[in-house]
Amino acid sequence: MNILYDWQLYHWAIEPSSKCTLKCPRCPRTEYPDIPWLNKELKYKDFVRAFTPSFIKKHVKRFTMCGDVGDPIYCKDYIDIVHYIKTVKPDCHVFTITNGSYKSTDWWKHFAYISNQFDTINFSVDGFNQVTNNKYRVNSDFDSIMNGMNIMGQESAAFVYWAAIFFRFNQDDQKSIRYLAKEHNCDGIQWTKSTKFKSKYTYQYGHIDMLEPRPEFVSSSDRYERHMELLTNRMIDNIDYMYTNTTKFDTINKDGLITPLCMIGNRGMFLNVEGVVHPCGWVSYPYDVMSDGVKKIKYKDSFFNVNRHHFNAFNNGLELVLSNPLWQKLFDSWKSDPFVECNLKCNSKLVDYDYAVGYETN
Ligand code: SF4
Ligand code: SF4
Repeated sequence: MNILYDWQLYHWAIEPSSKCTLKCPRCPRTEYPDIPWLNKELKYKDFVRAFTPSFIKKHVKRFTMCGDVGDPIYCKDYIDIVHYIKTVKPDCHVFTITNGSYKSTDWWKHFAYISNQFDTINFSVDGFNQVTNNKYRVNSDFDSIMNGMNIMGQESAAFVYWAAIFFRFNQDDQKSIRYLAKEHNCDGIQWTKSTKFKSKYTYQYGHIDMLEPRPEFVSSSDRYERHMELLTNRMIDNIDYMYTNTTKFDTINKDGLITPLCMIGNRGMFLNVEGVVHPCGWVSYPYDVMSDGVKKIKYKDSFFNVNRHHFNAFNNGLELVLSNPLWQKLFDSWKSDPFVECNLKCNSKLVDYDYAVGYETN
């Protein structure tokens, strides 16, 4: 079957689980505990039905495994799902993003065994010991994280990165984090300047935001900002992926109000834990009310939520969902009256080469 529309299909962001043992204060699962799809897991059979071998072989170069509201390693079928992808297409990039807590040595050894040099794992760790990491990664378990990091570094060919967000409590701890990352076989450290602070969301996070770092460590835009500090001389082979991104950015029509990243690919097409397809993870975010300064929208009334049963790949099949004529409404909106989410994230004034093509995104 042909897919009607010109989506990018080479980068997918998947939510293997909406479960997590942690309670990070700025995570949607903590901020919006009534999310209806919380505490679920992707099943191996559903994933395989949606992502058939022929679809993966033909289209997919990268799966970013990162829950919107959960952590991939708490999906019981996670290793089977990754093993399936690596069997169908060994050079497909599986990029796992995890807090890394509470998995056993056996689990990590198994995961290391099925991972290869085309894969990446990011351990999201914001402190340099149990106490400092728990200041944001509440309920995390530092020893098991370091054990997992060590095993992945020693026993797999995958790239292993320490991924830290700058907060007030760690903004001056870069040296300690760097020391530990080297000790635990990391290939690099991904430093993130987040937007989720009071200076950006003035109506949230109390009178004084105790997590907010100095302005130099806060994103200067409406999207997080990242840079990678390499600790080894190994480099991910991402030439093909970057070439695809760049070519799509160069050829996409940039005359409209929106330059849609869902047609470019550095932000993956998002499939949530229930199988609902979204053009990106931004539009699946279960906010209360979102405003672009002109219009306001409640998540419950948004196009993506109202039509979620039409966009469910487990019930309808991935290719039918991607070809659903309802999407025309989204594409038409970009010309003159964009949805609030698209205006905030993909306004043409915002999307330049770096924003659209950069690698350290998901
Ligand atoms: S580890 Fe990830 S999924 Fe779990 S609470 Fe923190 S941000 Fe949310
Ligand atoms: S915000 Fe809108 S235009 Fe941008 S990637 Fe998502 S759906 Fe596409």
